[in-house]
Amino acid sequence: MYDFAYHKPGSVADAVKLLTADPEARPISGGQTLLPALKHRLNRPTALVDLSGIAELKGIRKEGDTLTIGALARHVDVAESAEVTSAIPALARMAANIGDIQVRNRGTIGGSVANNDPAADYPAAVLGLGATIVTDRRRIAADDFFQGMFTTALEPGELLVAIEFPIPEKAGYAKMRNPASRYVMTGAFVARLRSGEVRVAINGAGPCVFRQAEMEKALSANWSPEAVANIRQSPEGLNSDIHGSAEYRAHLVTVMAKRAVAEAG
Ligand SMILES: Cc1cc2nc3c(=O)[nH]c(=O)nc-3n(C[C@H](O)[C@H](O)[C@H](O)COP(=O)(O)OP(=O)(O)OC[C@H]3O[C@@H](n4cnc5c(N)ncnc54)[C@H](O)[C@@H]3O)c2cc1C
Repeated sequence: MYDFAYHKPGSVADAVKLLTADPEARPISGGQTLLPALKHRLNRPTALVDLSGIAELKGIRKEGDTLTIGALARHVDVAESAEVTSAIPALARMAANIGDIQVRNRGTIGGSVANNDPAADYPAAVLGLGATIVTDRRRIAADDFFQGMFTTALEPGELLVAIEFPIPEKAGYAKMRNPASRYVMTGAFVARLRSGEVRVAINGAGPCVFRQAEMEKALSANWSPEAVANIRQSPEGLNSDIHGSAEYRAHLVTVMAKRAVAEAG
């Protein structure tokens, strides 16, 4: 690790001020990704802006048809929240199966979504539910937020403050995970919203979470695992590495989507 300055602001406004004043400063939430990156010298920020003391970033609340989760909610908070469990049980189950207990006790939803690791879980729920990302300065639709591998619509110095999830009629998530790292090899999050819209988001398979339009169309006509059983994802552009080929991941897209619809019921 290199030397860096450390700040612990008490408000979003102060954090943004610190980040804007120094373009090489980085916000830190759970540190589960950023600290290993610093240790491996993959990242060299001049300062860390620790968000953990900012009350505005905390809390989970259900209002009408919307579930709002503060950026600092740890995976364990989401997994154990009565509001999440009753409104979007698939999201609580997703959180309960992220990494291991140490990761779930430190890692946050804001850090995970801002990081946009192709093998992370939450981006699939955010895109699959058509959530809205609330930042210190604007609101961003999930469809516009995830832009590529580790790339989002967040501008330098912009803080993710909360995520607003529409409470769906049905939602389910299934993933095949790497037995060693526990990160997602391929996952599918499916949802039927109260508006009638059906969304299918695939994570782990490609460089960035993406929607599977053919499956959305089939499930709109017939919400059942059989509706997606014969839909084949093209392996073109999918990830291929020592853990699995693009063809294997393409096959998993269908299998995970079927399981996710079955879980949603
Ligand atoms: C061993 C291990 C296993 C894991 N397994 C899984 C898994 O199975 N599934 C999964 O989804 N994840 C997994 N993770 C990742 C983990 O779940 C964390 O969610 C993830 O590391 C990022 O969250 P964090 O709060 O730790 O963010 P940090 O590490 O603090 O930050 C990550 C990035 O986001 C930025 N950032 C943080 N907060 C904000 C904010 N509010 N606004 C803007 N930018 C911000 C930081 O500057 C940094 O660039 C694993 C991690 C480890 C170490």
